[in-house]
Amino acid sequence: MFDLLGKRALVTGASSGLGRHFAKTLATAGADLVITARRTDLLEGLAAEIDAMGRRCTAVTLDMTDPTGIAALAPAIEDIDIVVNNAGITREAPFLDQSVKDWQTVIDTNATGMFLLTQLAGRAMRARGRGGAIINIASILGLRQAGGVASYAVSKAAAIQLTKIAALELARFGIRVNALAPGYIATDINGAFWDGEAGKAMLKRIPQRRLGRLEDLDGPLLLLASDASTYMTGAVIPVDGGHLTSG
Ligand code: NDP
Repeated sequence: MFDLLGKRALVTGASSGLGRHFAKTLATAGADLVITARRTDLLEGLAAEIDAMGRRCTAVTLDMTDPTGIAALAPAIEDIDIVVNNAGITREAPFLDQSVKDWQTVIDTNATGMFLLTQLAGRAMRARGRGGAIINIASILGLRQAGGVASYAVSKAAAIQLTKIAALELARFGIRVNALAPGYIATDINGAFWDGEAGKAMLKRIPQRRLGRLEDLDGPLLLLASDASTYMTGAVIPVDGGHLTSG
C-alpha cells in the first residue's frame, strides 16, 4: 500500500534538513526523484546517494523566489506523481522590528513559491490525466501563535489555506493536496537552541517531552504520498508530539 515503485516524486528544498530526508524516504519506498534547491553541490551529493540506492534522481538548481525559474521546471515534472513542497525559511524578529525586506523574503519563499509550484505541478498532473499527490510542508506555527515568528507563521497559515483551496479545486482531476504540520524537529541547525534555557522551557510544553526526529515524519509522509490515503485531500496533519493540544 505504501509502495512507490514506478512513481516519480519532486522534493523542493532537498539540499538539507527535512527535504533531504524526505527525498531519501521516498527513494527507499521506490520512487524516482527530482530534487531542487539553490545549493547545487549539496543537491548533487544527494542525487549520487539516491542513484546508489538504485533509483533515478535528477537535481535541478532552483530559487523558489524566482517565478521564471519555477516555470522553467515544467519539462522536468511533466510526468510527476508526487510533489513535496518543502523549501522554506524563517527570519525571526520581534513583531515591531521585523523589516519589510525579511517579511517579503519569507512570504515569497514559503507562500508564493509554494503557490507557483503547486500551480505548475497541478497543471502538469491535470494534463497527464493520472492524478497525483501534493504534500505541502506547513508547520504547527501556521495553526498556533508564538512570538517572534510573524512572517513565518503567516506564510505557514497561507500554506494551510492554499492546501485546502487547491484540494477543493483539484479533486476532480484526481489530484490530492494535503499538508504536514510538523512541530519542532531536531535538525543540525537548531540543536544549540534546544540545549539552552529557552529550548528546555519549550520542551515542557510538548506532551511527549521530546523534539521530533526526522524519522517521525516518515509514516505521515508515505501515507500522504501513497495510495494508502486515496480518500484524503485537504487534510492538515500535525506531527508534533501533541504540542498543539497543549495550547
Ligand atoms: P533547512 O534550512 O535545513 O532546509 C530548508 C531547505 O529549503 C534547504 O534545502 C534550502 O536549500 C531550501 N530553500 C530555502 N530557501 C530557498 C529558496 N529561496 N529557493 C530554493 N530553496 C530554498 O530547514 P528545515 O529542513 O528545518 O525546513 C524544511 C521545511 O520544513 C521548511 O518549510 C520549514 O518551514 C518546515 N518545518 C521545519 C520544522 C523544523 O523544526 N525543522 C518544523 C516545521 C516545519 P538552499 O539553501 O540550498 O536553497
